[in-house]
Amino acid sequence: MQVSPHVYVMHIDDGAAFHPGGSNNYFVGDPREAMVLIDTGDQHREWTHSLLQYYKQLGQPRISTILLTHSHHDHIGGLDRIYEVMPAPVRCHPKLVAKLQTMVETDAVVALQPDELVTTGGGVALQALFTPGHEVDHVSYYLGEEHVLFTGDCILGGSSTTVRDLGSYMQSLTLLTQYPHETICPGHGPVVPPPRGAELVRWYIEHRLEREQQVLAALSKGLGTIEDITRDVYPADLPAGLRRGAEQNVATHLEKLVQEGRLDETPARYRLRT
Ligand SMILES: [Zn+2]
Repeated sequence: MQVSPHVYVMHIDDGAAFHPGGSNNYFVGDPREAMVLIDTGDQHREWTHSLLQYYKQLGQPRISTILLTHSHHDHIGGLDRIYEVMPAPVRCHPKLVAKLQTMVETDAVVALQPDELVTTGGGVALQALFTPGHEVDHVSYYLGEEHVLFTGDCILGGSSTTVRDLGSYMQSLTLLTQYPHETICPGHGPVVPPPRGAELVRWYIEHRLEREQQVLAALSKGLGTIEDITRDVYPADLPAGLRRGAEQNVATHLEKLVQEGRLDETPARYRLRT
């Protein structure tokens, strides 16, 4: 499916519970000239097969660069087999280089610089925006010409995402708001077109700030364990399968508040600093 003049998406329903709405890999550029591939999917045969099928449909364009958003297996797992078909330079966050060098030729993997422009066919360029938080080595990409943001797992199309470091995650979201965009092309879930695409990053920021207020309210009631705070903040009928994720989310909020010096932490217990 074509998203905008130079953006094509390969969508697959991978059936993973963590990301409802399937997953996406993107080809960016001009199929008659050259294109960039963003992410290589999981190691699953079916996923790699779909990607190669779509590549054929595009007329097997020259791939000028393979860009990776981050180190999770559902983004880099297919790399070695994809690389056999599209032997292009592999570009990623500096912290991901060593891992990828075990999957393809060592010389093929080159670290991105923050804000670096990666050019391709059709005279377009993708800008690498370092956006840690979901993972330390996460990079988003910006196609300024068409106001499109490729957000990897920083922003998803159909749900909120998991976060390892909420402090840096919030900074990353703020960074994304500085790049005028109308369309969000996420790693998972549907592509979010205008007008909602322009609002989504802001919505993510507000959603997290609201959750932080709820965690602070629970703390001010004297609740001090992750379990108690989660029970207070989330609905009582939260399905058991989602409770662990909810607790992890509360834990990341507490870690952020500790880092900001707003909480005292004693082993397994948190209370508001007076
Ligand atoms: Zn993912």
